[in-house]
Amino acid sequence: MAAELKVPLGVREDGSIIHITEVPIEENGLKCKCVCPKCGDRLQARNAGKVRQHYFAHDKHHSCEGATESALHLFAKEVFSRHASMRVPPDEVWVDYLTREIPAMTVPFVSATTEERFGDADIIADVVLHRANDKPPVLIEIAVTHFVDDEKHVRLRRLGYPCIEVDLSEMHIGLVEFDREAIEDTLINGEDLKRWLCNPYGRRLRAELAEELRLKEEREAEQQRKREERKARAKEHNRRERERVMTPEYQKAMTERTEQELATHPIWVANRRAFGMSDSDETPWYLNVELNGEYLWTVHRTVWQSALFRSWVFNKAGNERSPFVSVKFAIDHLHDTHKNIWENALYWAWQDTSEVRSPSSVIAEYLAVLADCGFLKDEQTWGMPYSWTFNCVLPKFLPIPPEYNNPRYLPRAGGVFDTQTQRDIKF
Ligand SMILES: [Zn+2]
Repeated sequence: MAAELKVPLGVREDGSIIHITEVPIEENGLKCKCVCPKCGDRLQARNAGKVRQHYFAHDKHHSCEGATESALHLFAKEVFSRHASMRVPPDEVWVDYLTREIPAMTVPFVSATTEERFGDADIIADVVLHRANDKPPVLIEIAVTHFVDDEKHVRLRRLGYPCIEVDLSEMHIGLVEFDREAIEDTLINGEDLKRWLCNPYGRRLRAELAEELRLKEEREAEQQRKREERKARAKEHNRRERERVMTPEYQKAMTERTEQELATHPIWVANRRAFGMSDSDETPWYLNVELNGEYLWTVHRTVWQSALFRSWVFNKAGNERSPFVSVKFAIDHLHDTHKNIWENALYWAWQDTSEVRSPSSVIAEYLAVLADCGFLKDEQTWGMPYSWTFNCVLPKFLPIPPEYNNPRYLPRAGGVFDTQTQRDIKF
């Protein structure tokens, strides 16, 4: 006899479901008064103990598949009919990157029917839980071997009623086993083996999330617009400021002011003292090098040149100091330690206009002069000025007597070098 003809569950006269193991021995054969849950034919109980396995068999041999599933639908209906509510699992809805959890809850109902057809959507629900006050029914799909496929899933969602699939595939429902209590507990109290096929509660939440997302995107677009407006305003402000600072009148006034201030400028006063200069000593020309781009500073060139000379030449004395010098370090250090000596409107202006030199190109040019003087030695002085590097080879302040104080004479320890005659002059 084919396996599918051995039916584990039968329907008794009162409509209840009975498992073959629950039929008393004296009700063997047709005395069990059971019919097939699928086709309604009479069943014989084969439980007289002569064969090892008990089972129901159709009274008249014929093919009948799905009897177990049908029996479970009937059994589920019977279970639900004895209860007034069921647990449903948590669910999650998401719109784009926003998610919201729908918590597990208890859903009340008033009655249960089985295998009800919903005409328009061509759906037969395994069990239907009817609810009070015209609330939409909850559909229950019982899965043992056949789970709801994509096509039915789509139709269920179109129907729009809340729908839960209960997974009984692990319950070992067969000829030897039928655990009524475990199945009942799963149907009524379980959450883990249930999943939402259609959750109308999620629809409202999803609409809320979509609205939330829309508002958020609107806010972000507005913020972005404001940021761009601010940027454009700042750019325009910088442009006007740059134009103002670059006018000859402004530059002339700045030169006059910085020359007046030089003698008492605290950075220069501190550096003179560090170099051991007295008030009457003349500033050596290499701390007063005229370069194109001095408009980048709001102080006299001797202030920033002496600051660079002190950090990258004078302070290199001592064995523990690395001789390494780079334009990158020099400009970062000068910008960080002396913020107020810079013409802020021009510091980044080189990125927008070729009229203004970059601070790194001016500083690179100045360090190259110190290299010509013999304080530094070129390491890498090609490519972007920002990447130029040197080594300090003469970490000393060298005074120059007034009669030699011009770029013709390079500083040397105890004298100068005359670049015209190519001769050392000792004094
Ligand atoms: Zn049948």
